[in-house]
Amino acid sequence: MKLRHVLPLIIGFVFVPAALMLTVGILILVYGSVARDYLFGILILALVATTIAGTAATIAILYREARVAKLQTDFVNKVSHELRTPLTSIRMFVETLQLGRIADPVRQREALEIVAEETARLSGLINRLLDWARMESGRRTYQLTRQPVEPIVDLALQAFEPQRLHGQVEVTREVPPRLPPVMADRQALSEAILNLLNNAFKYTGAEKKISIAAAASGPTVTISVSDNGPGIPQREQKRIFDKFYRAHDPLSRSIEGTGLGLAMVKHIVVAHGGRVAVSSDVGEGATFTITLPAVVLEPAPAAQPATAGGKG
Ligand code: ADP
Repeated sequence: MKLRHVLPLIIGFVFVPAALMLTVGILILVYGSVARDYLFGILILALVATTIAGTAATIAILYREARVAKLQTDFVNKVSHELRTPLTSIRMFVETLQLGRIADPVRQREALEIVAEETARLSGLINRLLDWARMESGRRTYQLTRQPVEPIVDLALQAFEPQRLHGQVEVTREVPPRLPPVMADRQALSEAILNLLNNAFKYTGAEKKISIAAAASGPTVTISVSDNGPGIPQREQKRIFDKFYRAHDPLSRSIEGTGLGLAMVKHIVVAHGGRVAVSSDVGEGATFTITLPAVVLEPAPAAQPATAGGKG
């Protein structure tokens, strides 16, 4: 159990009574006998305050646990559905081919292509779940080495290429030269960027415009992915990074997803000592920004003035 899970209980049952006892102690020290006269009343007050604070903390924890449990149940239902859909389609096509019901070789090839696509979707989903399981259990490790930003952005764009070719999407890329490097696990960071690109693609309407930009900003480097989609309401913006969470609008619900993508992005970015944030207005698209500490480069040693002349 993580500290932040039990923090409300610690505050409710330990900090509040400790603070009250300290106050009582100080009152007795300062006001002596007068305070002692009120000691019983003060202690009753402390007891009541502790009970209230502790109960409130317990309710807060139970409420949060119930919310996570509900998200988890939704997640299991969703994943089962997403596993079953491609499996049904694979089984259907394989059976039809087995029974020799598709005689036309062109249609046979089309059917096989669908089977291949659905298989890829299935293994993509399973890999995602396994990846998440490794992150949650702390088994996913990152090899952080000094890396230039541009090739990482390009690796993500390269992996995004099939999506780009599949749908109508205009992608712009803005990566200035001479950006400071970052300490990064190249593969993991490009996966995080790819997740943002995939979301920008998924949640944007017919005329998709996605842009990816990197910039140096003080002691940090930022990598942003923007889209011209429906945007994300303010009240959802914090929660979309929670595991299993999916926004409540009908559009999101009609699009495939597990609610793990942004939680994975956050996990990867935090492991890099960075943060990820969203800025969006409804109807105005969304911009997700990854901020990473820049590696401070040692200044190049000043050139030694050439010494003229030799031994005389
Ligand atoms: P998933 O896409 O599998 O649902 P994510 O964790 O990637 O899970 O995203 C969580 C939610 O955030 C999505 O369900 C969606 O509602 C919202 N979201 C993410 N990216 C965007 C985006 N670019 N535009 C609009 N909504 C988004």
